[in-house]
Amino acid sequence: MEESGLKGKAYLAGWIPYRIRRYWFFILVTVFTLVVPWVRIEGNHLFLLSFDKLKLHLMFVQFDMQELYLMPFVLMFLFIGIFGITVLGGRFFCGWMCPQTIFRVAYRDFLETKVFKLRKRIKNKQQEPDYSTTTNKIKRVALLLISVVLALLAATDLLWFFVPPEDFLQYMHNPAEHPILIGTIIGIATFLVYDIVFLKEDFCAYVCPYSRIQSVLYDDDTIMAIYNPNRGGEIYSDQHVKNFTTQKSLLSVNPTAECTTCESCVTVCPTHIDIRKGLQLECINCLECVDACTEVMGKLGKPSLVEWSSEKETLFMKGKTHYLRPKIIGYAVILLITAAIMIVMGSEKEYMLLNINKENRLFGIKHMDEGKIRVDNAYTVLLQNTLNEDHEYYFDVIAPAGMEGKIKIGEPAKPFKVKPGIVKKKVIVLYTDEILVNDTSKDTVIPITIHAYAMDDKEKIVTNKESTFTFPRADLLKEEK
Ligand code: SF4
Ligand code: SF4
Repeated sequence: MEESGLKGKAYLAGWIPYRIRRYWFFILVTVFTLVVPWVRIEGNHLFLLSFDKLKLHLMFVQFDMQELYLMPFVLMFLFIGIFGITVLGGRFFCGWMCPQTIFRVAYRDFLETKVFKLRKRIKNKQQEPDYSTTTNKIKRVALLLISVVLALLAATDLLWFFVPPEDFLQYMHNPAEHPILIGTIIGIATFLVYDIVFLKEDFCAYVCPYSRIQSVLYDDDTIMAIYNPNRGGEIYSDQHVKNFTTQKSLLSVNPTAECTTCESCVTVCPTHIDIRKGLQLECINCLECVDACTEVMGKLGKPSLVEWSSEKETLFMKGKTHYLRPKIIGYAVILLITAAIMIVMGSEKEYMLLNINKENRLFGIKHMDEGKIRVDNAYTVLLQNTLNEDHEYYFDVIAPAGMEGKIKIGEPAKPFKVKPGIVKKKVIVLYTDEILVNDTSKDTVIPITIHAYAMDDKEKIVTNKESTFTFPRADLLKEEK
């Protein structure tokens, strides 16, 4: 016994439980989530889907709602990413990144267990706190108040992904004027408190839709918490009936079975399942059972019976887990393509939006002094400044070869200002005072490009729109006597 204890000590030397690694991961995810809404460059956020300003900010580029062709790609990236992670690492997202899990660990393992000592041990998640004593009742109220504060903070942080924090702080000067905002925060916080304090892991097992799709995505190489029945012994029958509750009864049937039936892996499970029963929908891949068994078996100088492994490797014993398999490569390729499309689209972002409609009245002819003529074409223009500052805009006309410089801007006579986010309607008049075409049979439609730009950045804030300039038939140009 002493020998196995020594062996166990050596076996567990340097071992870092997944629980500790998850805590660090949780801290990283939390800091990331709290910081992201505040990260911005020149007024553009890393990520923001602003409902009140109808903007998407992605990687410090601002897109207007008219440009939301990017949104499907953002969603595709998210969903394919989560599907890919699931195929590779099961419910890795649930156990390591999901806010629900982070909240539950903070609430149950930190506040309930460590701070308020309402639970005895982190390793026993089955025994609920005893709230019959007055002291514990007071502690429960304190715990509830802390939960409300944390839930309000989390709800506000969530909202910052949709309402920029700088605007949010302004709105908070007069909260009464923003009942929808305040109502949303209170609504989300209320749900969070209910979820974390009362619904608990039932949310993961019965409410969350992700748990439903996971089993469809799994394959034999998906890594997850798996009990090794080949070493530990079959504890459950094929009908999921528990056959053994003591090591003695297990050994009487299977003398080589290593499971001690200590149930440490069961007591620690936050979703109240027994991993020895096999893959179950409720398992969130938190790996607490792996830690529990590593400790138990490690003390005996043996490897854990519950491993973070694949069915292929641990259950079917068909060799090593195949990580770089076609499915995973496929997901990675699709993710790369989606990311590339987003980057290309983002780099081609237009910093102004322009819509041009040619006026119904095709053209106007004016007879000037000395027999000269002037032909006008009018256009209705909608110009939107999608940036954060005022800009002055103007136009040029790009005419076909041979007509360069012959079609000019009549109106507006000078650049005009447009405020951020505002769509300005303008009538622009193009004219020519030269005979562009001499066709006696019909009017001539000349393809042109209207080049719009901001006066202070003619390189970046520009856009071109194709249109036409109609030049009248020759006989229409003759002045009636
Ligand atoms: S069986 Fe329970 S403890 Fe083990 S990974 Fe799944 S949820 Fe966590
Ligand atoms: S912790 Fe390990 S040894 Fe103990 S019951 Fe679970 S699988 Fe068996």
